[in-house]
Amino acid sequence: MACVNYPYDAPVSQSLYDRAAVVTPGGVNSPVRAFGAVGGTPRFMVSGAGPYLTDADGREYVDLVCSWGPMILGHAHPAVTEAVREAVSRGTSFGTPGQGEVELAEEIVARVAPVDQVRLVSSGTEATMSAIRLARGFTGRSKVVKFAGCYHGHVDALLAAAGSGVATFGLPDTPGVTGAQAGETLVLPYNDLDSAAAAFAAHPGEIACVITEASPGNMGVVPPREGFNAGLKRLCEANGALYVSDEVMTGFRVSKAGWYGLDGVVPDLMTFGKVMGGGFPAAAFGGRADVMARLAPAGPVYQAGTLSGNPVATAAGLAQLRLLDDAAYERLDAVSAELRSLVTEALAKEGVTHRLQRAGSMFSVFFTGGDGEDGGDGGEIADYAAAGRQETFRYTAFFHEMLSRGVYLPPSAFEAWFVSTALDGRAVERIADALPHAARAAARAGGDGEQGEARA
Ligand SMILES: *Cc1c(COP(=O)(O)O)cnc(C)c1O
Repeated sequence: MACVNYPYDAPVSQSLYDRAAVVTPGGVNSPVRAFGAVGGTPRFMVSGAGPYLTDADGREYVDLVCSWGPMILGHAHPAVTEAVREAVSRGTSFGTPGQGEVELAEEIVARVAPVDQVRLVSSGTEATMSAIRLARGFTGRSKVVKFAGCYHGHVDALLAAAGSGVATFGLPDTPGVTGAQAGETLVLPYNDLDSAAAAFAAHPGEIACVITEASPGNMGVVPPREGFNAGLKRLCEANGALYVSDEVMTGFRVSKAGWYGLDGVVPDLMTFGKVMGGGFPAAAFGGRADVMARLAPAGPVYQAGTLSGNPVATAAGLAQLRLLDDAAYERLDAVSAELRSLVTEALAKEGVTHRLQRAGSMFSVFFTGGDGEDGGDGGEIADYAAAGRQETFRYTAFFHEMLSRGVYLPPSAFEAWFVSTALDGRAVERIADALPHAARAAARAGGDGEQGEARA
């Protein structure tokens, strides 16, 4: 990233970043962490407690990323920490079945009605990859429908118009994914049922499944329009394809039963990750018993994992899910509503045209540009093309102002903001104090050239 003069610096993070860049491509182990979209020094965090993160320079931040979703109870929650400590002391991996896996699977099945059976894996990517394989194995078909702007992990076949990190870095498609792998994937515009119907009409008997984020959060928050998910389900049913709902982000975050708990559309298969791992690598896919029965060793579709159902990860996930009761979701909804109104108020006051969209307690802000004559709302962002038209230079200015005032937002305009139950009055107050300054920075930001000017 070009050198920008920031009004503050992070010398220890910078020196760690320099060391990291020698031994790790780009200095990070997952691209968006590198601050590529917003510039500046990525903060190397050393600890987290409740709603706060502390970086290597000793600065404290209110965390609105929450490890991209998992830390829904805040950092180092005592009950989760204790469950992990207990599990670790009994040994960290056995390569055999164990009680924790049974309990975590039972918890998921009890929460999410469409899930009869579940298979545990170690990442969301593994979950979607395995669900696609199972859908193909079950139907004997090869094609997969996905939507532009939906991210389903870095599965080869699904890295087409995949939002998020991919959107951030402007890679239309990644080298290393072959035409044969991507060629079986049909990419359609989100929230457009007609194009989904047309795809089924054009490929009769060829489509194994439609995979969609239950409510997309990887192009910013772009919820499904009323009837969109139900329409997809109907199309799948009518055409002998499976409806795969990716709830890796929304699962156990937007309600006790994830997005399914809010819209009630019954998928054939679902994928989970993030929250269910309690900050450890645990994810899952599950669904209809007759489909899951095709999975090895019950059936012929192979799927496996050395660390799948790891006892420490399952203990952390189970402890976290058990704390996520109705009261916890009410708390998340309330704090999200409070933050949304603070954000809107601050931006409106500075005349910054924007659109705030939410899915349950997840939300994001689109700097939609224009003259603000419509009262500060730039109109609905319904798909990836619309999300891509936002003025990202305003987000850059906004982000850095918040960061300098101790609020950690996602380092990209194409990401959801995540709240935790740990956000208390003091944390919200810090956000409220920072917002007017960030709104002013967003209002002043210039779209031509470097973002440095925005922070003059
Ligand atoms: C994060 C995410 C994934 C990928 O999960 P990883 O654990 O990062 O592999 C898949 N789908 C959605 C909707 C996600 O948000």
